[in-house]
Amino acid sequence: MDGRIETLQPILHYGGHWLVPFAIAWVIWRRDWLRNGAVIAAANAIDFDHVLATPMFDPDRCSIGFHLLHGWEAALAFTVMMFIPRWWARAFAIGALWHLVVDYGDCSMQVW
Ligand SMILES: [Zn+2]
Repeated sequence: MDGRIETLQPILHYGGHWLVPFAIAWVIWRRDWLRNGAVIAAANAIDFDHVLATPMFDPDRCSIGFHLLHGWEAALAFTVMMFIPRWWARAFAIGALWHLVVDYGDCSMQVW
């Protein structure tokens, strides 16, 4: 593994999961960015599906397509959720989909 990627990955991972949600909320809602950003970040709760897996946490395993809430069925459900005319439903759906993007980024970095 490339040394630079090794130090960059946790920054991208945690920044992607906890900081970018607020940036997204700021871009979309601006006025309520803090409240809405918190909901987007709360969508990281989909990681609770990891408790269904054994072992619960495996840094070398790709979450995408493995865990219940990290598959295409879940992505489809989150996409449908985007059409619910409630800001919190949209914020959560955006957060969940963004979460999958960040996790997918992790998977692609593991290849190196
Ligand atoms: Zn995840």
